[in-house]
Amino acid sequence: MSAARSRRVSVQPLLPLPCAYEYLDGGLSLETGAIVEIPLGSRRVLGVVVGPGRCEVAEHRLKPVLDRLDVPPIPAVSLAFADWVAGYTLSPLGVVMKMVVGGRDIVSAAAPVRAWARGGQGSAARLTPARQRVLDHLGPGSMLSGARIRSAAGVSDAVLRGMAQAGLIERVTLPAEREEIASPDPDLEPVVTLDATQVEAADRLVRAVRDRRFSVTVVDGVTGSGKTDVYFEAVAEVLRQGRQVLVLVPEIGLSVPFLDRFAARFGVPPLAWHSELPASQRRIVWRAVADGRARALIGARSALFLPYTDLGLVVVDEEHEPAYKQEDGVRYQGRDMAIVRARLARIPAVLVSATPSLETVANIRRGRFGRVALPARVGGSRLPEVTLLDMRVRGPGRGEWMAPQLLHAVETALESGEQSLLFLNRRGYAPLTLCRRCGWRCSCDHCSAWMVEHRLLDVLQCHHCGTTRPRLTVCPGCGATESLVAIGPGVEQLLAESRIRFPDAVTVIASSDTLSGPGAAREFARSVQAGEVDIIIGTQVVAKGHHFPLLTTVGVIDADLGLSGGDLRAGERTYQMLHQVAGRAGRELRPGRVYLQTFQPENPVMKALAAWDRDGFVAAEAREREAAGMPPFGRLAALIVSSHDAADADGAAAVLARTAPQYTNVRVLGPAPAPLSLLRDRHRRRLLVKADRDVDVQAVLKAWIEPLKFPSRVRVGIDIDPYSFL
Ligand code: ADP
Ligand code: ZN
Ligand code: ZN
Repeated sequence: MSAARSRRVSVQPLLPLPCAYEYLDGGLSLETGAIVEIPLGSRRVLGVVVGPGRCEVAEHRLKPVLDRLDVPPIPAVSLAFADWVAGYTLSPLGVVMKMVVGGRDIVSAAAPVRAWARGGQGSAARLTPARQRVLDHLGPGSMLSGARIRSAAGVSDAVLRGMAQAGLIERVTLPAEREEIASPDPDLEPVVTLDATQVEAADRLVRAVRDRRFSVTVVDGVTGSGKTDVYFEAVAEVLRQGRQVLVLVPEIGLSVPFLDRFAARFGVPPLAWHSELPASQRRIVWRAVADGRARALIGARSALFLPYTDLGLVVVDEEHEPAYKQEDGVRYQGRDMAIVRARLARIPAVLVSATPSLETVANIRRGRFGRVALPARVGGSRLPEVTLLDMRVRGPGRGEWMAPQLLHAVETALESGEQSLLFLNRRGYAPLTLCRRCGWRCSCDHCSAWMVEHRLLDVLQCHHCGTTRPRLTVCPGCGATESLVAIGPGVEQLLAESRIRFPDAVTVIASSDTLSGPGAAREFARSVQAGEVDIIIGTQVVAKGHHFPLLTTVGVIDADLGLSGGDLRAGERTYQMLHQVAGRAGRELRPGRVYLQTFQPENPVMKALAAWDRDGFVAAEAREREAAGMPPFGRLAALIVSSHDAADADGAAAVLARTAPQYTNVRVLGPAPAPLSLLRDRHRRRLLVKADRDVDVQAVLKAWIEPLKFPSRVRVGIDIDPYSFL
């Protein structure tokens, strides 16, 4: 090391701190992006080297870096991305950087894992088909964990033990991060032969990949048009280039059909990344991404922050999904940040949807995004006919939730051996428990929300904080017994009604309560495809991704459910979800029928659904938003003030209101108690900032909020481009 070389480095601690601190390199070789341990006060914390030191502090006052972790440095583009996200969301850089690094358990050395390798001898041993499959997967020199071999070769542990005894395989230990990652093969025979329209669309995407520069292309295709098979061609092209590809999905729980289709097309499933992955698996995936072994990833929005060595394409499936918005911590829109990530890396992004968001439609209009259309369903099957059932005219019987016409339709489907989906986006048995005698309502002690009755789990549960309590037999308000009634339906109540109406049918609930985990989701899809189920009662988890050939009849129990509450996107969201649900019906030869139970058949959302007039609906919605200066034609930001103490929250909100900026093109609305004025014991107040599109909202907010001092008990959350107004 030459003596002239600067020995100072800037290190960003992975803590809620806005800027980097200077350290001495301590004799370690520390390039930008290196992950290090530094002393901070009396603590030992993780940090990322973000550049050379700026020589702002006398050398004798600097402390040395303690250690460098044995992982590849964070690539420059990931650092730039973290910086960009921090600036846009007004979050401390250290917090965003922590999303890139993942935390200590991800980057520190892992315990070695036990694995298998081929044994030295055993040629004389009998090779059963099972043993042969094991050897096929465990090539010479390869080392795989027992779990991996068992799932890949479909053998039991007994087979492996027997082979070890025969000397065919032997135990080895290997560092966890060295486990082999199977590579997808882009040149396998495609599972389906694309038709002419699909080929044209796929070619556009492949060309975008070959161009190796930033672009955004929207795959706008009706439900059942084969969008996935089309963008798989772009995925294949990236894999041929030897680069990495990320497919983002709104909720990883919905991805089982995707994993299976990917494996069918490319030989192996992609690696998955989401917040519920166990730490051991996260460590393996993180390292495989960071050293380039992982080629294909499917992930929730947090996968954007992984340290890709050479990302070549980002696909955002179901780009319109509100679930892409992160609602706590760093509040960011996954789709929007995917586009930023692509721009910084100069690579293409592909957005996929049957119902593109207004934001995306506006960007297509402005010429910023390209668009390829898939206007017809595969194999010429037609979109189902949608009928509005006016609940004011001929509604369900007392205490029931299905109107006569819907009951009749399900009956007809049953008689023809077809399947029905009853859609109700409400988990549990009933959203409210009420005392008929004194009017007492069961609400959460920690949130301004009602407790939802779950009979299958035998509890009352708050869907906001997860608190549960035993189901009640005596009213806590008046002490009466048998006075408590369940108000409004959830899927469990619908199940009870369906079993009474259709006693011979096989009826199942498909919700996040019943389909948690890939095993349950896969088994559900299999049993429906095999025709073992007659009626599915489902929440949004069945609204998309599934392809059930026998499903012809869809009934939406409460089409108006999402329209109340009056938030900005209520109409758009309801349209998108019901359009998706309707798209489950009649995807193959048998024509589909959809029934929407509504109290407002004249509502533009319902009329558009009945006519499959997506573009008309979007145009009308866009006109209204534009007239109101709302996104995507204006900007919004929300401030959420919260504290355990209501007076504190009010005080801080009042300070914000008093100091609000005065510009002609920025308006500050509020403060007002949030609709969820109590959440997890915190009292919440909201302010809304509405600005013209050309206003730098971040600069306005910074100038306003940074000089203010609030008591430490008060939190002021900033939500740029809010999706939730609760
Ligand atoms: P979307 O996502 O557009 O709703 P999918 O991608 O789920 O549609 O495709 C629907 C089904 O049609 C899938 O099972 C898919 O494999 C199949 N498929 C797609 N393209 C073709 C094709 N050209 N020929 C036959 N089957 C196809
Ligand atoms: Zn609660
Ligand atoms: Zn009572």
